[in-house]
Amino acid sequence: MEHGPGGYGLPGRHESFWMETTAETAYPPLPGNLETDVVVVGGGITGITTAVLLKQAGYTVALIEGDRICRGVTGHTTAKVTSLHRLIYAELIDRFGSRQAQQYAEANQAAIETVASFVREYDIPCSFEAKPAYTYGSTR
Ligand SMILES: Cc1cc2nc3c(=O)[nH]c(=O)nc-3n(C[C@H](O)[C@H](O)[C@H](O)COP(=O)(O)OP(=O)(O)OC[C@H]3O[C@@H](n4cnc5c(N)ncnc54)[C@H](O)[C@@H]3O)c2cc1C
Repeated sequence: MEHGPGGYGLPGRHESFWMETTAETAYPPLPGNLETDVVVVGGGITGITTAVLLKQAGYTVALIEGDRICRGVTGHTTAKVTSLHRLIYAELIDRFGSRQAQQYAEANQAAIETVASFVREYDIPCSFEAKPAYTYGSTR
């Protein structure tokens, strides 16, 4: 395997940095029948977040992943979380009005704060930082 400047086998290949640089998890297969309040299927960011929130609410939860935790879409992102998605607000205002666009913004901001609170609460060493986000337009 060839190695790039960071020592990882990434150049010229469509590999996920997160997958390449993170130790594999080794959670055991289910031993048999299990009784829980909730079963969450899929260990991407959606499933893990759902499972954590349910556990925090006092439920017993089994999180079931068919492959490897976060190997799906979640493992192939740029790892930013943002409420600024291209020109989404112009489109939302045009199609649904300002109130709905604001609800979308508030929901996304709340999600970012949830992620930030998980990082703080569980002391996750992921270099999470708040940064400004911009969308540049080349026409008026
Ligand atoms: C190229 C790209 C870049 C992106 N960049 C960003 C970004 O920078 N910031 C951002 O906020 N969002 C980004 N997104 C969007 C975001 O990554 C996705 O919305 C999010 O990761 C989806 O997470 P998920 O948990 O729903 O799906 P996944 O991460 O795909 O997780 C689903 C999991 O379910 C498992 N599974 C499926 N079926 C079963 C089954 N029957 N039994 C057991 N397990 C099962 C799969 O193995 C998988 O692990 C990006 C998306 C793409 C494609």
